[in-house]
Amino acid sequence: MANAAQVQRMSRLMIKTLREDPADAETASHKLLVRAGYVRRSSAGIWTWLPLGKKVLENVSRIVREEMDAIGAQEVLLPALLPKEPYEVSNRWEEYGDLLFRLKDRKGADYLLGPTHEEIFALTVKDQCTSYKDLPVMLYQIQTKYRDEARPRSGVLRGREFQMKDSYSFDVTDEGLAESYALHRAAYEKIFARLGLDFRIVSAVSGAMGGSASEEFLAPAAAGEDTFVDCPACDYAANTEAVTVKVEPVDGSGHGPVEELDTPDTPTIEKLAEHLGVPASATLKNLLVKVTETSAAGAAGEIVAVGVPGDREVDLGKLGEHLAPAVVELVTAEDFVERPELVRGYVGPQGLAGKSFRYLADPRVASGTAWITGANKEGKHARNVVAGRDFEVDEYLDVVVVEPGDPCPKCGTGLRIDRAIEIGHIFQLGRKYADAFELDVLGQNGKPVRVTMGSYGIGVSRAVAALAEQTHDEAGLCWPREVAPADVHVVAAGKAKQTELALSVGEQLGAAGLRVLVDDRPGVSPGVKFTDAELLGVPTIVVAGRRAGEGVVEVKDRRTGEREELTVEEAVARLSA
Ligand code: ATP
Ligand code: MG
Repeated sequence: MANAAQVQRMSRLMIKTLREDPADAETASHKLLVRAGYVRRSSAGIWTWLPLGKKVLENVSRIVREEMDAIGAQEVLLPALLPKEPYEVSNRWEEYGDLLFRLKDRKGADYLLGPTHEEIFALTVKDQCTSYKDLPVMLYQIQTKYRDEARPRSGVLRGREFQMKDSYSFDVTDEGLAESYALHRAAYEKIFARLGLDFRIVSAVSGAMGGSASEEFLAPAAAGEDTFVDCPACDYAANTEAVTVKVEPVDGSGHGPVEELDTPDTPTIEKLAEHLGVPASATLKNLLVKVTETSAAGAAGEIVAVGVPGDREVDLGKLGEHLAPAVVELVTAEDFVERPELVRGYVGPQGLAGKSFRYLADPRVASGTAWITGANKEGKHARNVVAGRDFEVDEYLDVVVVEPGDPCPKCGTGLRIDRAIEIGHIFQLGRKYADAFELDVLGQNGKPVRVTMGSYGIGVSRAVAALAEQTHDEAGLCWPREVAPADVHVVAAGKAKQTELALSVGEQLGAAGLRVLVDDRPGVSPGVKFTDAELLGVPTIVVAGRRAGEGVVEVKDRRTGEREELTVEEAVARLSA
């Protein structure tokens, strides 16, 4: 007897494929997942998973689950609807800003829909584990997450409601945390390889999460919203936001004294470089920003200057990450009113750094390097302004926009820049949340020990879109076998004999343990069925067509397009092997 569950007749499947791309769709995965009837938009960034889509999502979840179980992580399910208090303790009720979905219950108490669960997991372990003997422990869940994303574009790639596997490790020692992190890293490599994703592991900024070691798993794809750098010569790869520049101090003793230059009407680098006939890279640009601690709402804010070579742009996002949770804004004309020493367009760090403003600089502004920069007088610049001699840098930060060809921090070769989708992220959080929640266990000596945490995420629903991005072709989706909604798609060309044969082939393949989709839809033309088979992307297509009367079918590989005519016996034997 065929396993009925393994054979899905399309005549009984709720599916409506579309010939036209949805109007608002920009990315291939968005277009194809909608057209092939895998998902439907419910509202902005919120999606319904239809039968075939749900199968793919389930397959991804199964692979994730198997590999998490294999490293000894235990599956749990925490609520998605969460009280405000723990997120106030961690300060994320505020820090998350507009990204958080907040709501009230009937008594007026504040709740949120969980965007990620560090707080609640920390509390769960505080409740369940009391001794060092209870640790280490690794917990995970596959759950619906909520983030009120500013731009929920790209279909399920960036949803406001989405599926995430999040896990958390709890250890008593730093070595233990490093081990839990390594276990997750290895599990993620297996998961993404099994999913059939092309991926890179890159170092990442830890951002608002706070913490030390952090790596991202990126799936290279044009539709990705992340950019990463890749060294063509060594193994260095990093999120562009995490690229570090290595610059050594140079001997600056040969530079002459600071010299003032008349540079009327040159408030921009372009005008200055043109006026002096020097490259923009010889000038030092000083970007003034206002930094406000979030806790001090309405506070005046501190003026901070960021010095970068004139040919480079400051990445305000990166700067924001470095200074988080403080808020960074560009200065406005008002900020100059009470500060006559700051001459707009002609600011230089000499005489002001460390006094009028905190001075942050790109590592290229290394000690001993000489610059042309503002002379802090209207229409004047200064030459031979030497870092470490004429001004001090309070802190070096990597905040310039990375450009192709920038030197690799490991080997110096020119870097490449590519786009990618972030499919996973692993963090060594350390004791940030454990401190916030006083998460201690009794140590070997009977004294309390503070626990150290790791947090690890995989975008389960995003992985479906990432796979679609990487594997599709012009005809449609093209799933790797482990995640495909079926192993074989049998098409009955239309005549009664052909349908009969298709159903029989389907049953035999099902009996052999394969998952089969049989297109037995009456009144649908063979052309439409063939087009749909390509669109749906099941890895093998079997057609009961012209030679059905002789018991011969055509077997086609969806990916390579290779086709072969085989008897039913041969086809079943071949495909079930
Ligand atoms: P992004 O930078 O893309 O907004 P993130 O860094 O904020 O993501 P994490 O907090 O690291 O995301 O979440 C873990 C994983 O969850 C991410 O690596 C990603 O795969 C997935 N993910 C995050 N946001 C979304 C979203 N809006 N829709 C679908 N998946 C998401
Ligand atoms: Mg991330």
